[in-house]
Amino acid sequence: MEITYIIQKSRRRSISVSLLGENRVLVKAPYGISEGKVQEFLLSKKDWIKKHLEKQNQEEEKAASLGLLSADEIKEIRKKARKIIPERVDFWAKKIGVTYGKIAIRLQSSRWGSCSSKGNLNFNCLLVIMPEEILDSVVVHELCHRRHMNHSKEFYAEIERVFPDYKRCDKWLKENGGVYLKRVSC
Ligand SMILES: [Zn+2]
Repeated sequence: MEITYIIQKSRRRSISVSLLGENRVLVKAPYGISEGKVQEFLLSKKDWIKKHLEKQNQEEEKAASLGLLSADEIKEIRKKARKIIPERVDFWAKKIGVTYGKIAIRLQSSRWGSCSSKGNLNFNCLLVIMPEEILDSVVVHELCHRRHMNHSKEFYAEIERVFPDYKRCDKWLKENGGVYLKRVSC
């Protein structure tokens, strides 16, 4: 695999690498860094880069074979999401024993859900085209933030208490979610 890197220099101290897609990576580095140091750094991250670029390529291929979601499909998904998500939130909030504020449903290309300190919830409408338990796992995750506004051990213990299948669903979302996001052009 041939990898192209783009270097962005700034007044930072450390060096980092992130993926850009199409076998390209972005290296952020401090001014004055030598070419040798950049190469050395990239070599030390070689396995990580390769693994993640391969995953990204597979996701892009799968998304391309499925095709972009059409405007009509997205309209249907939004409609379904506006009906189903509030129902699931209500169900799980009662089960967990927490309250919540407003529910916003959006089409997003990066995240699945969020919970503000005021208890306002935000969900990606693409969750409704996934297996039901995946949507539930995200709803439970966000609602458990009403108990713990962090990702502490106690937070995950709370999730496990009400939703024992959480780990498997979280893994599924990490492995398969990318394809869903790539079927949206935004
Ligand atoms: Zn969280």
